[in-house]
Amino acid sequence: MTDKFSWIEDELRTLQEAGLRTTIRTIGSACGAWMVVDGKKVLNFCTNNYLGLANHPRLKSAAQAALEKWGAGPAAVRSIAGTLELHRELETRLAAFKEVEDALYVQSGFCANQAVIPALVGKEDIIFTDRLNHASIIDGCRLSSAEIVVYEHCDVEDAERAIKAHKGKYRRAMLITDGVFSMDGDIAPLDRLHALCEQHGIITMVDDAHGEGVVGRSGRGIVDHFRLNGKFDLEIGTLSKAFGVVGGVIAGRKLVIDWIRQKARPFLFSSAVTAADTAACLAAVELLEQGSELVDKLWENTRYFKEGMRRAGFDTGPSATPITPVMLGEASLAQQFSRKLFDGEPGLFAMPIGFPTVPQGKARIRVMISAAHSREDLDLGLEIFAKVGKELGVIS
Ligand code: PMP
Repeated sequence: MTDKFSWIEDELRTLQEAGLRTTIRTIGSACGAWMVVDGKKVLNFCTNNYLGLANHPRLKSAAQAALEKWGAGPAAVRSIAGTLELHRELETRLAAFKEVEDALYVQSGFCANQAVIPALVGKEDIIFTDRLNHASIIDGCRLSSAEIVVYEHCDVEDAERAIKAHKGKYRRAMLITDGVFSMDGDIAPLDRLHALCEQHGIITMVDDAHGEGVVGRSGRGIVDHFRLNGKFDLEIGTLSKAFGVVGGVIAGRKLVIDWIRQKARPFLFSSAVTAADTAACLAAVELLEQGSELVDKLWENTRYFKEGMRRAGFDTGPSATPITPVMLGEASLAQQFSRKLFDGEPGLFAMPIGFPTVPQGKARIRVMISAAHSREDLDLGLEIFAKVGKELGVIS
């Protein structure tokens, strides 16, 4: 009998040959500017730890205290017996931070998108979605059974064309965009998209995973960056990037969040986030409320590193945020580049990103800048990039 899964070997070989097979590295230390990766201490330019909070003493002591008080896990889904006072406290704090009426804390940003979209639109409805939106939005759209209409990346005219072409053919409509795009670091034209949706009575939703803690006043996020506070119907976020912990957030009008509590399947059918994680998130929000020092440091580091990379001759794409794509084109070159960065002495950890995460021919190394990097770390990073770039003929 033939092996039922022999096709997987063929598929994996094809991925390998195209330079698209992901190497899963194993981390042996806390997340910081330097990390132990596959047993080697390397300079880390790979994690979403924008503000260096992942290993912050205040977050750790908040988590430890909560672990002592509440135990290891809630042992229930939120809608049965898993809604802790801590969850509600975090939700109230996050709503205030974002200047909206209410918020719902779920297991992850990915879950947040799965939770919201099918709760608001269904078979008779339509979704207008940016071509480069995150995978969790794409999956959330598919789960909803609504008609999905993709508009060109950040192209308000194309979104308007699509909206007009479908006018009158649906019950409800929703427009969804990433705020900061995770692979290119560019920013959606939220003000113009918002105005367009207002004109046509369309529900607006923005995924702020890479904007929170990064843009806006004290890292209040992309909606604050455009001073549209409270005007976007739904703001989706994650506590796993700048906030340094784990979890997702859905923020907006109380009425809408109440409905999502009744309908969102990850909220109804999957267990609640632990007290320790929730307390660490609360500590992170408190730190951000207290001032913009970490956000300022992140931006200072970002400007310094990007300027150094451009001066060295690298193409860092259209990014307007700390996400720094180092454009290389072919996936095999990006893989080779990343391996050489890692294997050097000292090594540098930055992952190659290829198809299907980014379009074919647009492979890159994605560099993630953090407030945790010192000036010496950034200089060393620039030096290592320049050395490998010259060795591989990417820069002269
Ligand atoms: N949305 C965007 C835009 C993201 O980049 C990510 C993280 N990769 C997510 C959602 C998912 O967030 P989480 O890791 O909390 O599930």
